[in-house]
Amino acid sequence: MTVHKFKAQPQEDKDCCGDHNLLPLDTAIAKGLALAEPLVGFETVNLYSARGRTIADNIHARLPLPNFNNSAMDGYAVNTASLTGTGPYRLEVTGRMAAGDHDTDSKGLPSAGCIRIFTGAVVPADYDAVIMQEKVRVEGGHIIFDKCPDVGNNIRPGGEDCQPGDLVVAKGTLLEARHIAVLAAQGVSELSVKRKVRVAIFSTGSELRLPGEDLKSGQIYNSNRYALAAQLDHPFIEIIDLGTIRDDYRVLKGALAAAAEMADMVITTGGVSVGDEDHMPGIVTDLGGMLHVMKVAIKPGKPVTVGTIGKCIFLGLPGNPVAAFVNQILIGRPIIDKLSGQKARPPASYPAIAQFERRRAITRQEYVPARIVGKNPQGSSIVEVFAKAGSATLLPLASSDGFVVLPVGLAQVMDGDRVEFIPH
Ligand code: AMP
Ligand code: MG
Repeated sequence: MTVHKFKAQPQEDKDCCGDHNLLPLDTAIAKGLALAEPLVGFETVNLYSARGRTIADNIHARLPLPNFNNSAMDGYAVNTASLTGTGPYRLEVTGRMAAGDHDTDSKGLPSAGCIRIFTGAVVPADYDAVIMQEKVRVEGGHIIFDKCPDVGNNIRPGGEDCQPGDLVVAKGTLLEARHIAVLAAQGVSELSVKRKVRVAIFSTGSELRLPGEDLKSGQIYNSNRYALAAQLDHPFIEIIDLGTIRDDYRVLKGALAAAAEMADMVITTGGVSVGDEDHMPGIVTDLGGMLHVMKVAIKPGKPVTVGTIGKCIFLGLPGNPVAAFVNQILIGRPIIDKLSGQKARPPASYPAIAQFERRRAITRQEYVPARIVGKNPQGSSIVEVFAKAGSATLLPLASSDGFVVLPVGLAQVMDGDRVEFIPH
């Protein structure tokens, strides 16, 4: 076999050749989303294991929060009406309330005195302010202080956080620690969550081996399988990993048919481009499926393909690892979120200042791994891109803090320009 020696070429944009009639990325995302119907099934889970699941119903407050007037400080509860004239004041300490003590003798307490009180304890009805312990002098069972507190000082009034009937967590929320906190405070022990989205994945490519195996000539490690599984590793997703499948039409067709039977969505990597070994789009149609998105104005990832096989959604990610990674974030994740019944999430990006220059083809929206290198005097992040970044180079992606987004039509970026930055 002849061995050709190639000199490394700088990764450059292959410009617009072949970039006619590309589907705008927003359209591709919208078409993918339009295929996804929120799944109907749900299950009951203990609050303890609810993090990362999509809540199936609105949850309204059963209790006011806080559920009683309580002290915000360690100190002394007083009745301001009993403090006449100017200070200093001297009050007898006639009782004691700590967190968890029942307020049994509220009415019997003499309102002219005060009670020792601790944070979180019920403030009995006869008292309307709490003085911090640092502000009093204690002397023979009495406290002495200079200023009369305002009514309500250092008291957390019952119901200030929420009232019975208030919406606490809305249906379709992906439950995070902050939602779990308020649900627990409401005494919710079990709740309904949407069933997990079943996502089958496999990598296509005869060149692929798994980490841990030996590599022969022409073989590479399958990085997409691990990266995609890590991207999908969420409590609301059940991953069905069908491994690596060689570029053999019949084997791939069998695998895709089986995957579409068992999953809500199938995500594959590789084999969606225009080469002889790129079988996936043809297999989708040969299985009676439909192709809805092909050739998208995105870089990296132009060949990304979205289709349906029966009720199952098919996402064919390109094989190049950075393209697969970016397209899963932009196209795959929103589809899965919608299948799981989640509300659409607001896009998380912010303007940053470019510390790089770049001339580019204007036909595709580009996602460039970038890292934050500092802040300018106005407080904006300054971002830098990597010299050798491309759709197959993993080190820039691994070293990045996010992506700079360069929209269609933007021909160049100059040092100091404002660019959109999406953090990881
Ligand atoms: P394809 O989209 O199948 O033509 O693959 C494009 C490039 O990505 C080729 O260089 C493949 O070797 C590489 N590639 C495909 N799948 C993977 C994978 N799972 N892990 C790493 N590289 C891959
Ligand atoms: Mg391939």
